[in-house]
Amino acid sequence: MYLFSFMIYYPLLPIKHQSESKMKLCFLTVFPAFMFSTVFVSHLCAQNPFDETVRVAAHLEPAIPRPEPSKIAKDKLAALRSKTGRPPNILVLLVDDMGWGDIGANGGGVVIGAPTPNIDKLSQDGLRLTSVYAQSTCTPSRAALMTGRFPSRTGLTRPLMAGEALSVNPWSDEDIAAKLLSAAGYRTALSGKWHLGEAEGTRPHDVGYDEYLGILGVASEMTQAIDARIYPDLVLRPERREALRKLVIPEVTTGKKASAAQTVQEIKTPEEMSTIDQMFADYSANFIQKCASDRKPFYLIHAFSRVHNDNYPAPGYAGKSPAGFPYKDAIIEVDDIVGRLIRTLKETGQLENTLVFFTSDNGANEDVWPDSGFQPWRGGKGTTWEGGVRVPGIAYWPGMIAPRPANDGLFDLMDLFNTSLAIAGISDQISSKRYIDGIDQSSFLLADNGQSSRQAVFMYGDNRMVAMRWKEYKIHTSVYLTHQPMRNLDESVLTSTGDWPWVYNLYMDPKEQRSTGHRYFEWGFAAILPMLKSHIATYFKYPRKSLGLETPR
Ligand code: CA
Repeated sequence: MYLFSFMIYYPLLPIKHQSESKMKLCFLTVFPAFMFSTVFVSHLCAQNPFDETVRVAAHLEPAIPRPEPSKIAKDKLAALRSKTGRPPNILVLLVDDMGWGDIGANGGGVVIGAPTPNIDKLSQDGLRLTSVYAQSTCTPSRAALMTGRFPSRTGLTRPLMAGEALSVNPWSDEDIAAKLLSAAGYRTALSGKWHLGEAEGTRPHDVGYDEYLGILGVASEMTQAIDARIYPDLVLRPERREALRKLVIPEVTTGKKASAAQTVQEIKTPEEMSTIDQMFADYSANFIQKCASDRKPFYLIHAFSRVHNDNYPAPGYAGKSPAGFPYKDAIIEVDDIVGRLIRTLKETGQLENTLVFFTSDNGANEDVWPDSGFQPWRGGKGTTWEGGVRVPGIAYWPGMIAPRPANDGLFDLMDLFNTSLAIAGISDQISSKRYIDGIDQSSFLLADNGQSSRQAVFMYGDNRMVAMRWKEYKIHTSVYLTHQPMRNLDESVLTSTGDWPWVYNLYMDPKEQRSTGHRYFEWGFAAILPMLKSHIATYFKYPRKSLGLETPR
């Protein structure tokens, strides 16, 4: 792996660290990267016959041009707007830690003791995407979805811990989609989990959302403070519990733009904890109703607290799933809430004026099984194996997205940033000051013959690019290795591969079990190496941001 890493990263080293003995190899690597980094010379890409993309601006990720589907999508949006008189709504249904295979549409559902009829209906009546990718953990994934930028750029490279103070406000120089949409006349709301900053100035209503109701952290941050059965060494030790309360109080809060956050309810017991997703559902339903009656376009991220551990069945849900386990009961509740919010759209006359996108922020968390989900892949949350980063994805919009066969084109959750702005007609509001890794996928979703505009998905461990997906191939330059099965977060190491990357053909080997890189993919390195170099070279002009989240080692 040394040779391969060298070829990718060597151009990024300061010259003083480059020894003369390596200068010959350097000539082959530094010069192309330098050219990319300074002027982004597109003809270098053009020299790669496998590269289908075009770069239209230095700060925008190159995309595959789709002229005909793009025209169809634009015409459809224009026709809808002239009919409704306002831009369309956007509803993102973001589940926490749901596995790719949890939903019936992806082979789970009734098969694994938790039917998901409402989610499956979105798939039947819309477009199921089988190759949707997220970051491998909560905070990085949500940051990427909202900014269209890799966590290595925003600095939010790992989950924030309870009450953790950041040395820099990550949002002070970021434009999240909600901020741009709010400025364009949308009503914007975050319902449910945030996990992108708990301090004043970093909360949803501080950084672009008009309003918010939910939890600023994550479910387990709250349950560890209240459940003596799972966390006796904390909950039964008053001095530790009080120390934690000084950092963070388990509570549901609410806030409006330019106002302080207020406590809605402190959560003191597992029973109270079990009710919070119904609170979020009530809030989202009311928000939709309010926007519809005021005839205002809306952008709503409904971010479930479910199905992240620890799951306690909501009232009426204990044992409701055939499996009977709390995780499965939580899946049933998520599916019911999806059904409720779709009904609310219909009842308010907004169903045909709303893009709905259903997904999860990362793969199933195998470390907390049996309070976790299912996926037919290797690994889980916290790794860049498919199990960590490949998530459910369904786009649903009656009248605008025809019921279509499932599509395995690449889609990164960062693409929701660009796609949301395109659908709202404000793509021109994207600042050229920052590099945007997302791609506008509106033509992929809206045109009957739409295909993905994304050529590759890059995957990160902390702030290191460690893997990529290109076509049906998965290429790892570093790999997560676990000492015990299903111990991806708690007992894994991230290590560079040997002389060659590990490569898997996901059509033939979806579980990434046998690397065939050197044997069958030698041809492919000529295709992907320039793509990797081009990606890394973007950091020259657009440097990484550090928020002080690095773990002391
Ligand atoms: Ca998560």
